[in-house]
Amino acid sequence: MKIVVAIKEVPDTWGERRLDLETGLTDRGASAPVLDEIGERAVEAALTYADAHEGTEVVVLTMAPASATATVRKALAMGATSAVHVVDDTLRGADLLLTAEVLAAAIRRTGFDLVIAGNLSTDGGGAVVPAMIAEILGVPQLTALSSLDVSEAAVAGDRVSDAGTMRVSAALPAVVSITEALPEGRFTTFKGIMAAKKKPYETLDAGALGVAAENPAVPRYIMLSVAERPPRAAGTKIVDEGDAGEKLAAFLVAEGVA
Ligand SMILES: Cc1cc2nc3c(=O)[nH]c(=O)nc-3n(C[C@H](O)[C@H](O)[C@H](O)COP(=O)(O)OP(=O)(O)OC[C@H]3O[C@@H](n4cnc5c(N)ncnc54)[C@H](O)[C@@H]3O)c2cc1C
Repeated sequence: MKIVVAIKEVPDTWGERRLDLETGLTDRGASAPVLDEIGERAVEAALTYADAHEGTEVVVLTMAPASATATVRKALAMGATSAVHVVDDTLRGADLLLTAEVLAAAIRRTGFDLVIAGNLSTDGGGAVVPAMIAEILGVPQLTALSSLDVSEAAVAGDRVSDAGTMRVSAALPAVVSITEALPEGRFTTFKGIMAAKKKPYETLDAGALGVAAENPAVPRYIMLSVAERPPRAAGTKIVDEGDAGEKLAAFLVAEGVA
């Protein structure tokens, strides 16, 4: 079984996250870059299967700036077999579809039985890249799975919606995306970190993948403007001087809640 896990480097969720107001892209200098937590969970899901099934190959794949190497190595230190890193400055500002085309081309080149992705990245938050990859590859997709069961020939899982829980299944090869309901990524060990340094690490550009990336890459949707969210206004504090109930009721009426 060959499992390709799509991982993304994102600005630290707990640090300050900013947009570059000129380009509309993530300001990568504003906070420490990390492996997206949902990506860690996706790697964990693949490794859990690999732990129980000898001979499973887990390939981590990213399309990211060259500086993302340390993040990719973290996934190798967790236990992935090898890495494919698409590095190409002409892809800077790639929109969702171009990203999916690049990743699908890399997945096709690598070969796969199963692709595991996160359902939604912490920064871009488009939540459509996995579905687009499946469409381009022409394989079934199971998205937003809150549980994952992989067997030799099929993949299944639960998909929770407002109305209930669907049990879904598809024959392999397939693409799945998982939610934060799946277990957290395992800790890396010193042994794992040392082993990661010797694991196969392939870097490719758009040309090697046969993807037409012009310089600069031409997105098919265009960001018209970008503005920072205004700072949050301070809340209303009610001090109880024996009349807190009345003040609270008056506040709710004024806000149109009551
Ligand atoms: C030079 C360069 C600079 C870039 N700069 C930025 C930037 O500033 N901000 C930004 O958000 N993106 C950047 N990217 C990456 C790319 O543009 C985005 O990944 C893409 O638009 C996906 O958007 P999303 O996060 O909303 O996808 P979503 O659909 O929300 O992602 C869902 C899942 O798809 C997979 N996935 C998504 N993107 C990637 C990826 N790149 N590699 C592997 N798996 C992925 C992951 O499993 C993720 O959990 C850059 C890429 C390059 C090469």
